[in-house]
Amino acid sequence: MADSPDTPAVDADSPLRHRHLLDLSTYDADELRHILDTAQEFRAVLDRPIRQVPTLQGTTVASLFFEPSTRTKLSFGLAAGRLSAETVSLSKSGSSVKKGETLKDTARNVEAMKVDVVVLRHSSPGAPHFLARCTDSVILNAGDGAHAHPTQALLDVLTMREHIDTFDGLNVSIIGDITHSRVARSNVQALTTLGANVTLCGPATMLPVEMERAMDVRTTTDLDAALEGCDIAMALRIQMERQDEGLFPSIREYHMKFGITPDHLRRHPNLLIMHPGPVNRGVELANDVVDHERAIILSQVTNGVALRMAILYLLAPQRTDG
Ligand code: ASP
Repeated sequence: MADSPDTPAVDADSPLRHRHLLDLSTYDADELRHILDTAQEFRAVLDRPIRQVPTLQGTTVASLFFEPSTRTKLSFGLAAGRLSAETVSLSKSGSSVKKGETLKDTARNVEAMKVDVVVLRHSSPGAPHFLARCTDSVILNAGDGAHAHPTQALLDVLTMREHIDTFDGLNVSIIGDITHSRVARSNVQALTTLGANVTLCGPATMLPVEMERAMDVRTTTDLDAALEGCDIAMALRIQMERQDEGLFPSIREYHMKFGITPDHLRRHPNLLIMHPGPVNRGVELANDVVDHERAIILSQVTNGVALRMAILYLLAPQRTDG
């Protein structure tokens, strides 16, 4: 892609053809598998008594989070620390963005301090792509508006891989507010690239049916249809902060039609439950489902650290031989 900001890695030996992680639309199955294999190795490092390796000594990672985050921000910070990188972080409330500085100026000033990698979360779709064009740092997208959340999708498929033999023919249903979900979009890209079948399910007002053709998925407004033959159900958070109009009558009604309950788990005895967090207990998932043994939500969180270690390891410039 000549006009893509995501130019091929300079290192010809690198197994990845990308310099940045902006979204997963241009990552092929071999690249995804390579990232997952690398993450699996780092997952083992996390179980050692000493969970740190010297790989990124001398590399500096700056996290710019202009939207709230718990898991993504902490796990990128932990991942960089486990690889011995230096880290700095900035959030919207404590930064000069509040004083009117543009994203480009903020990023160029951060870069002027000799930063190697910028991890960016921003409410504008395409903000990481824009930075990749106007700075020299490696850019990692930590969520841009409703567009993409590539590390979330990668940690999700990493977690699925722990429970399945193959993605070929795997049936995954993503349930909830699809319209506002960067998690759904990135998961569809990762899962279809790896060979899984994806069903998107939600209220008609939150289900962009054009995704059916554009992204090779099935859509339905019927939860029972979405769970029939489904191996893994991924519930999405209702994103109150992105709803400027009433897209569903009430939380109670949403839960009655789209919430996953213990009864669903009884009717589908092999079904696994995932959620990217933060969970609205009693809305997307009944309280008992969140804590059920077939809910693998906390494994997703643990794998998030390993996956982000892999991404940093594969894309950050290494300044030592370690
Ligand atoms: N944590 C995920 C995200 O940042 C999911 C969510 O917030 O609903 O997109």
